Amino acid sequence: MELIDTHCHLQMGQYPGGLDEMLGRSRQAGVIGWITIGTDLGDSAAGIKLAQEQESVAYTAGIHPHEAGKVPGDYLEQLEEMTQSDKVCALGEMGLDYHYNHSQPAVQRKIFEQQLELAKKLELPVVIHCREAFEDCLAILRAGYREGSAVFHCFSGDCKQAATVLDMGHSISFTGVVTFKNAQVNRKVARYVPDDRFFLETDAPFLSPEPKRNVRPNEPALLVHVAEKIAELRRITVAEIAKITNRNAVDFFKLNTSN
Ligand SMILES: [Zn+2]
Ligand SMILES: [Zn+2]
Repeated sequence: MELIDTHCHLQMGQYPGGLDEMLGRSRQAGVIGWITIGTDLGDSAAGIKLAQEQESVAYTAGIHPHEAGKVPGDYLEQLEEMTQSDKVCALGEMGLDYHYNHSQPAVQRKIFEQQLELAKKLELPVVIHCREAFEDCLAILRAGYREGSAVFHCFSGDCKQAATVLDMGHSISFTGVVTFKNAQVNRKVARYVPDDRFFLETDAPFLSPEPKRNVRPNEPALLVHVAEKIAELRRITVAEIAKITNRNAVDFFKLNTSN
């Protein structure tokens, strides 16, 4: 089995035994590729360094909506500079989070729009974090973004919202949330989404899946539980889920499987 964890924060977690052991456990569990996601300038820089040192780790650089209020004036130039490596695979995570509102909504929207502009210029896909802000996220994407080049990570909408995202050509990805007891809506979406439009992610060190929900921090080895749940929901084998989602991730993020 060859799974790709398309959204994890490898530079963030204090993993038992350190990073190398954690990646070893992950390989043993059948996870053979990782995209480590940036959330601000410092965190993105740490992700780049990690990706350059580790085989099969790609990275993204971006400003999470929580951090939108803290960026320096030249942050776009700095982000652009961070994309000058063949291991970059997207910009993000970026978007809107009205649940926590750690940054003011108007500031979140501005920083989101500016990063989308940059992604368009650089011809990179984007990883979107959208929480309780679906309408605004869509409006911003509609206003100027390219079809089919965004993924809504940790998708939290219903089938109707998924249909809207899919109609725009974009993709969605699933975390351990799909295994949670109260996540019926997420499981419906996992049955509904077409084969070629979804990815798997852990969002480690967050969101440990059942039956390992008490394991903290979450880590990519546990992606297997997300894959198993989705295989069960779609009535196909885990190997088939791995094949489908691996292909989707390689295509969307243009992953270079040789590095
Ligand atoms: Zn997120
Ligand atoms: Zn994340």
